[in-house]
Amino acid sequence: MDIKDFRHHLHCHPELSFEEHQTAAFISERLSEMGVEYRPIAGTGILARIEGRRGNLERCVVLRADIDALPIKEMTGVDYASQSEGVMHACGHDCHAAMLYGVVKRLQMERDFEGTVLALFQPGEEQFPGGASLVLKDNPFDKYKVAAVIGQHVDADMEVGEIGFCPGKFMASVDDLHFKIKGIGGYANVRSKVKDAVVAAADLILRLNMLNSDVCVVSVGNVEAKGTTNVIPERVTCDGTMRAFSEKLRQRVKDMITNIVEEIEYKHDVEVQLDVREGYPCVENDMQLTYEAMLLSDSLGYQTKDLEMRTTSEDFGYYTQLYPSLFYRLGVGRNVGRAHTATFLPDDKALKIGEEFMYRLALSILNK
Ligand SMILES: [Zn+2]
Ligand SMILES: [Zn+2]
Repeated sequence: MDIKDFRHHLHCHPELSFEEHQTAAFISERLSEMGVEYRPIAGTGILARIEGRRGNLERCVVLRADIDALPIKEMTGVDYASQSEGVMHACGHDCHAAMLYGVVKRLQMERDFEGTVLALFQPGEEQFPGGASLVLKDNPFDKYKVAAVIGQHVDADMEVGEIGFCPGKFMASVDDLHFKIKGIGGYANVRSKVKDAVVAAADLILRLNMLNSDVCVVSVGNVEAKGTTNVIPERVTCDGTMRAFSEKLRQRVKDMITNIVEEIEYKHDVEVQLDVREGYPCVENDMQLTYEAMLLSDSLGYQTKDLEMRTTSEDFGYYTQLYPSLFYRLGVGRNVGRAHTATFLPDDKALKIGEEFMYRLALSILNK
C-alpha cells in the first residue's frame, strides 16, 4: 500500500484518543504483510522493531508518530472524509502515521543500516495523561542505548517543501488549573454578612495574570459564580491553563500560584482549593541533533526554517526529558486550513517529503 492510500484510510476511519482499536489493527496488518516484528504498547499503540544488518543492535533510533483523532465533525468534503460521526483527523496524525509507515517499509526492505529502529505508533497524544507517558511506563527502551527519539508534526504555517526546526527549548509544558473558592454567600446589599468569593476570584485572576511573561503563560478561561444582581454566591470556580518553557520554571510558577492562593485566602477570608492537573512536560530538542538535522534538510534541498518557541504543548515532551530527541515541523501548505478545525486538510504532496526526511535522518544517525 502506498502512503497516500494509508493516510486516506486512516483519515476515513478516525478514532479518538485511547480508542484507536481499528487504527492499531490496520497498522498491525500492514506491518504483518511486510514481515515487520511488532507488539502492542500503551493499550492501543504499536511498537515495531527493525534490526539493521550490522552494527550494535542495542543502539537504536526511535521514530514516533501519534495516531489519534479529535472530536470534530469534518467539513472538508473530500471523498476520503471521516466516516465516523463527529470524529476527525484534524491534527494531521493520519499523515504522521502514514509517513512513519513509509519509513518502516523502506527500512524493512533494505535493512542496510547499523543498530535498531523502533517505530512507535503512539496513541492518545491529544488527551491527558498523554500516550507518551503510558508508553514510557512500559520501559520499552530500557535495554537500548537510545541515540535519538524523532517525531514530526504537520504545519500549516509552512509550504510543502519547508521543514522547521528549533534547537533547544521548543514547546511549553502544560498544566490545567482548577480553583474552588468558598466564602459566605448572602444578600449583596448586606456586605458585612458576606465573605465575597466573587471579589476573591477577581483578585485571584488579576494576580495570576501578573505571572505572564515571555517564558510563562497563565490564563483563566472559565469562571462560574452562580449568584445574581443582589445575591453573592457561596462558591466561585475558575479554570485555567499554565504553560512554561522549562521544567524548573514550571515548578517555580506552581509554587508562586500556591503562594497567591494562600494570600487570597488570608486577604479575603475565604477558602481556596487549588487542583493542578499535571499535563505534558516541555519539548526540549537536543541541540546537536537539531543542527545535524538542519544540515541534512539543507543538503536534501528542502527549505530549512528556523522556528520560534511555541506556547503549545505535545506529549512528545516526555521523551525529550529522558532521551536526546528532536521534534520538527513539516510544511503541508499555507492554504489547508488550521489544525483542530473542521476544514483542516494537509496536502498529500507533503507525505513523500516527510517520509524521505525521516528516513534519511534515521539512517544518518544510525550509520554515524
Ligand atoms: Zn492536536
Ligand atoms: Zn497533533
